[in-house]
Amino acid sequence: MNTLLDALRAVVGQAHVLVPRDASDPEFSRHQTDWRGRYHGWAMAIVRPASTGEVAEVIKLCAAHRAGVVPQGGHTGLVGGGVPDASGQQIVLSLQRMNKVLSVDVANLSMTVEAGCLLAEVQQAADDAGLLFPLSLASEGSCTIGGNLATNAGGTHVLRYGTARELCLGLEAVTAQGDIWNGLKSLRKDNTGYDLRDLLIGSEGTLGIITRASLRLYPKPASRLSALVACDTIEQTLALLTLARRTLDASLCGFEAMQAYPIALTLRHKPEQAKAARALLRANASAQDISPEWSVLIDTSSPHSQASLQAQLEDTLSQALQAGLIQQASIAQSDTQYREMWALRETIPLAEKVEGQMVKHDIGVPTSCIPAFLAQAEQALSKAFPGCRIVCFGHLGDGNLHFNVQSPVGIDDQAFLLQHEHAVNTIVYDIAVSLGGTISAEHGIGQLKREELGRRQGQIGTGLMRAIKQALDPQGLLNPGRLLP
Ligand code: FAD
Repeated sequence: MNTLLDALRAVVGQAHVLVPRDASDPEFSRHQTDWRGRYHGWAMAIVRPASTGEVAEVIKLCAAHRAGVVPQGGHTGLVGGGVPDASGQQIVLSLQRMNKVLSVDVANLSMTVEAGCLLAEVQQAADDAGLLFPLSLASEGSCTIGGNLATNAGGTHVLRYGTARELCLGLEAVTAQGDIWNGLKSLRKDNTGYDLRDLLIGSEGTLGIITRASLRLYPKPASRLSALVACDTIEQTLALLTLARRTLDASLCGFEAMQAYPIALTLRHKPEQAKAARALLRANASAQDISPEWSVLIDTSSPHSQASLQAQLEDTLSQALQAGLIQQASIAQSDTQYREMWALRETIPLAEKVEGQMVKHDIGVPTSCIPAFLAQAEQALSKAFPGCRIVCFGHLGDGNLHFNVQSPVGIDDQAFLLQHEHAVNTIVYDIAVSLGGTISAEHGIGQLKREELGRRQGQIGTGLMRAIKQALDPQGLLNPGRLLP
């Protein structure tokens, strides 16, 4: 294998083929453990090419040596998709150095970027040009656009702008043979056969290495406002969504819901970031320190003035108050308050991480089925695992909930995960699927849900996916053991 490493060094340079000095080498090991600390691998090397041409050469060399390639962007994925296996035989291909914004076409509302650009930098480059790239995730300071496209990331503005797929106009990618496919178009309409771009989006590094992307931009809204709202029941929360869709129409960008327990976790572990919630909860608490069952963040933007957006949002909230859908609402009156409100939502995953391991889900169901999903899942879980705690929050407006299950008080989280993960998953996924839903609305399959996908997808779906993989990557070189059942 030294021959392979030497050849890789000749392509990308000595400094960009990292090999472990020892097992605790932090620069090396951060590429081998996932964000949640659940998966640990051991790669032969981390290779960091600087151009599409170098990626192509690296892939050709790996193909010749039959070394599996695990693409990696910001390494914020939550399903173990970018972690190498433990064999020491796989190459981690980090796109980190390919991080340039190549061009912004203001008239065409598009931009071209390299795959390793951080999402926050893509957003900033659009903003600098007076435009908006609306993909927005809590991990945007660390995740890359290549990773976002490979996982078809969602985030908080899907309601208005769609997922990463809807925001991508074209791609350049390196195939499993080391060829460069140029599909880097900036067109809204292009009916020329099979859509290879859409095949690569969401393929989690198993069909090709995304090296550049052409992205769809939007005019920057003139105004932006968020409100934090308290509801008593999930039915009221959904009725509020229906009302907000009608009254706010295209101004409604996000509708995020948080149950009381994840807010309590955030207050416990990240109190600084949960200031806005504290204020809201206190305002709501009257004599006692109680919290609403559901807190909702409504995000809006408009091409019109702040005053007119504020009037629109106030009208929606006063209709909701009159209809008895909400108990309390506050509209952010400054950028600081706006950021504080969003910090509350975005800090939940960090608070969960401090709290410990949980059985995590990112299910999706039609929004109309959310009350049925919650009622059935909560009942079935408390029957099977009395005292288990549910951490539920997420993109309610998209029918996508993080529905995480924590061990009962006094039971070790790791032990609960090891012993009961499969049974918990079966309960949660059976109910989601019976309601027309999905086992993953957002994070993808990776290693975590590969077997589950196999059990649920059916022979025909699995057969078609295998046929595509076989056609594009017959050697099974790209991200082996991921996604495909
Ligand atoms: P990585 O983690 O590096 O890789 C993810 C997968 O894509 C792997 O399978 C990898 O092999 C493959 N890959 C990476 N780059 C390429 C490439 N150039 N070509 C081909 N394959 C590639 N996700 C959401 O969808 N919505 C959210 O709201 C959200 N919030 C999050 C909040 C936090 C705090 C964290 C930690 C994660 C969150 N995520 C969310 C998950 C994660 O940020 C996304 O999946 C993101 O798109 C991953 O991007 P990345 O660059 O980190 O990819």
